[in-house]
Amino acid sequence: MEKPKRVVSLSRALSKLGYCSRKQAEHLIIEKKVSINSRIVTNPAFRVDPIRDKISVDAYSLSAKKEFVYILMNKSAGVVTTRSDERGRKTVFDLLGKHETFIFPVGRLDKETSGALLFTNDSQLGERLTNPDSKIPKTYHVVGEGLIGEEAIRALCDGITIEDGFRTLSATVSNVARNAATTECDITIVEGKNRQVRKMFESVGHPVVSLQRVSIGPLRLGSLPVGASRTLTSNEISQLRKSVS
Ligand code: URA
Repeated sequence: MEKPKRVVSLSRALSKLGYCSRKQAEHLIIEKKVSINSRIVTNPAFRVDPIRDKISVDAYSLSAKKEFVYILMNKSAGVVTTRSDERGRKTVFDLLGKHETFIFPVGRLDKETSGALLFTNDSQLGERLTNPDSKIPKTYHVVGEGLIGEEAIRALCDGITIEDGFRTLSATVSNVARNAATTECDITIVEGKNRQVRKMFESVGHPVVSLQRVSIGPLRLGSLPVGASRTLTSNEISQLRKSVS
């Protein structure tokens, strides 16, 4: 697997560290709020190494610290995966509560999706987990509209064309249970396109009624209550590292 590039533009580093979007980062940099190794930098394209360089915003250090933190959240539906929301909606950081260390979510869950969301300050691991080449399997429990037949399940597994002509890679569907008006199943995908699972089920004519991510690579949501968070065990951390090595 190709390793993610470490040296990136300052604006990209801020977004990779989960601080804000690239556009917001460009504004912060131009407004002289960002420093690298204690010197203000005003060029968003300035090259930095987020692992080695000490990046700060308003004197608040974002750099990957040696003391790593890994937290698994069971995100509730209705909460947005962002640090602060312009529209005042509840965010995953509201759910997480106060935290000493600067941590960021690894990838996103859309607002209505619940389940496993990892937070860390380990930007290298975060990058690897979200790198499409890593092909980390993520499993979702889906409730889909209507009775999903075998043909539709085969299409979900074999790969289907969703928005913009994107064809999904092979997926695995298991634990299919057909109820009166809905079908429940687990789907494991190795990609992370925006709202991918919803788009896949829409493509086969069975829009998602509810969606919950139940695992990310070796991490299992288990019985973690909705809205709660816990730190990973050392065994989980080493399994996670192994999954991207
Ligand atoms: N697929 C979706 O549709 N939504 C998510 O949040 C994640 C995967």
